[in-house]
Amino acid sequence: MVAASRLLVELVIRERAAALTNVEVRPTTEVVGLVLSDDGRHVTGVRTEAPSRVEQADLVVDASGRAALAAHWLPGLGFPAPETTEVNAHWGYASRFYRLPEGVIGPVVGGFPLGRAGSGPPSTRGGFLLLQENDPWLVTLSGCAKDFPPGDETGFLAFARSLAFPQIGEVIPVAEAISPIRTWRNTVNRRRHFERVADRPEGLVVMSDAACAFNPIYGQGMSVASIGAIDLHTELETQRGLAGRSMVGLAGRYAARSAESIRYAWDAACRADYRVPGFVGAPPPEGYLDAQSYYDRVVALSRDDLGVYEKLSGTNQLIHGPEWLDDPDLRATVRARWDELGALMGYEQGS
Ligand SMILES: Cc1cc2nc3c(=O)[nH]c(=O)nc-3n(C[C@H](O)[C@H](O)[C@H](O)COP(=O)(O)OP(=O)(O)OC[C@H]3O[C@@H](n4cnc5c(N)ncnc54)[C@H](O)[C@@H]3O)c2cc1C
Repeated sequence: MVAASRLLVELVIRERAAALTNVEVRPTTEVVGLVLSDDGRHVTGVRTEAPSRVEQADLVVDASGRAALAAHWLPGLGFPAPETTEVNAHWGYASRFYRLPEGVIGPVVGGFPLGRAGSGPPSTRGGFLLLQENDPWLVTLSGCAKDFPPGDETGFLAFARSLAFPQIGEVIPVAEAISPIRTWRNTVNRRRHFERVADRPEGLVVMSDAACAFNPIYGQGMSVASIGAIDLHTELETQRGLAGRSMVGLAGRYAARSAESIRYAWDAACRADYRVPGFVGAPPPEGYLDAQSYYDRVVALSRDDLGVYEKLSGTNQLIHGPEWLDDPDLRATVRARWDELGALMGYEQGS
């Protein structure tokens, strides 16, 4: 894994955005509301504070993140709030930066949540140790089903030592901590179904976390945000051909396109969280267990089939879709090795 810090990612994106001649960044300005046309059907701008003014716009894009401002503001403007679907497996993180003395570690070591396949009962605990840029190392501990990693020094080390793999617990005592321990527990998967809204204002598009926020443990949010930006570009091009400068029709088409683009990432995050004991929220869809047992065996197959591994990585990183999973040859291979592959993933024989 190549890990870039959040600071680096945001710096590079900000520099690129600021270099566009038609982009102006107003870092201290807060958006406090939407402005509607006299007939109440079109969003024509936003109200801001610092400075306090009305900003006119042909199109307003809500990218306010988990704050999801438009979803909260729409009912006050006479429009229905979108239906919301939530799946919460009660994950929490605790993270800390370290500097490691020379020679302590060679290649990156780590593990991922729910323990290792075939290594006994699944654990609620996981963690990883990643080198960010050239320095420092990041230790992130995670727990689900409310088995939250603690934010105090003693508890953090004890949690690391309780993992199914020893490396992180061994590294922490010889490493120099260079940050406080930070914790995070707002990990619910929350999707606002703007595509199902029957009555919406024109001139308003809601994207990325404001429309669909994922459990961050699966690392999908930024890719989904990028895909949303590409979708917006596509729909704006279509709109220009259909309606010139008018934005009528764009909001509904964007919501429909975006719902399709989000589908796999959403299903993947929920599929993983449905396995966590005590998850709350929307129940798994029909056929979920069958799809899951097939998918798990494809994961097992990827251990010794590089082609399958590459496709699986590409799909999990949202580089391409999951259609290849339905390939008849792949299905036949998995069927022929069903019990053997299932055993690798902890399934009982014949299940
Ligand atoms: C702990 C954690 C770890 C994560 N790890 C990963 C990862 O490894 N990989 C990955 O792909 N994703 C990860 N994510 C998810 C990723 O951060 C989000 O999906 C992504 O940032 C969403 O982008 P966004 O633009 O929708 O929202 P945000 O990045 O949240 O940006 C929203 C912006 O809107 C601004 N804003 C809000 N209200 C107002 C207002 N009233 N006026 C003006 N501005 C306002 C905020 O200040 C903020 O700058 C992680 C998230 C968390 C919380």
